Amino acid sequence: MPRGDALDSVPVMGALWRASTRPVGSVRAVTSPDRSVVLTFDDGPLPGSTDGVLASLADAGASATFFVLMTRVRKAPGLLQEIISAGHEVALHGPDHVRLTTLTTRQVVDRTRAAKLELEDRLGRPVRWIRPPYGSQSLRTWSAVRGAGLVPVMWGATTWDWKDITTPQRLEVAMSHLSPGQIVLAHDAIADAEDGADPRVDFPLDRGVFAKQLLAGYHDRGYTVVSLADALARGGRLRSWAWFGR
Ligand SMILES: [Zn+2]
Repeated sequence: MPRGDALDSVPVMGALWRASTRPVGSVRAVTSPDRSVVLTFDDGPLPGSTDGVLASLADAGASATFFVLMTRVRKAPGLLQEIISAGHEVALHGPDHVRLTTLTTRQVVDRTRAAKLELEDRLGRPVRWIRPPYGSQSLRTWSAVRGAGLVPVMWGATTWDWKDITTPQRLEVAMSHLSPGQIVLAHDAIADAEDGADPRVDFPLDRGVFAKQLLAGYHDRGYTVVSLADALARGGRLRSWAWFGR
């Protein structure tokens, strides 16, 4: 839990905390004029995995925001174009999966700026958002990525699709606090040592199939699933407050 979030559970204190930290805020939700959630996928693109996620999104008529790693984009540039061609939004997860809080301010600014330019060059359009790996962020790294021209986007709900648990457990955690305008964290891949990520235990998960099950869960509850860009285009507004820690 990011620092300060304990206050969120206390009604008046939570509102005060969110309002007072907006100037140093990260995007954590949107105000939604309808029953929709913002679905996000991190750590891709990965051939054999992201394609399945794209197929499930297309079947459901849903859009999503993909926070990509440049280490992955360089290995699968065609897949990046497929994401865009299918009408989804692409944003930056990072040049790689190193925790920003372990780097100097200069390194964060230079690396983020270079990755943003490289991604924009490949996309032919501007990139607005960054999701720092692990959601790891300090006031110093927040300032650095803002200085590099990007806005941090975190999340309010998770799918636990990086944990070796059952699909019913994943769906239960994803749906347990469902609310309009929620930003949902999912993965079309999982970063590994080649991306500079922490060591992890591998487990089998067909992410295309899981995306289909997740989308069915939202559909059953009357929710539309959209990218952050589409949420704003539909009249949603960004909700930002502090996210520091981890
Ligand atoms: Zn990640």
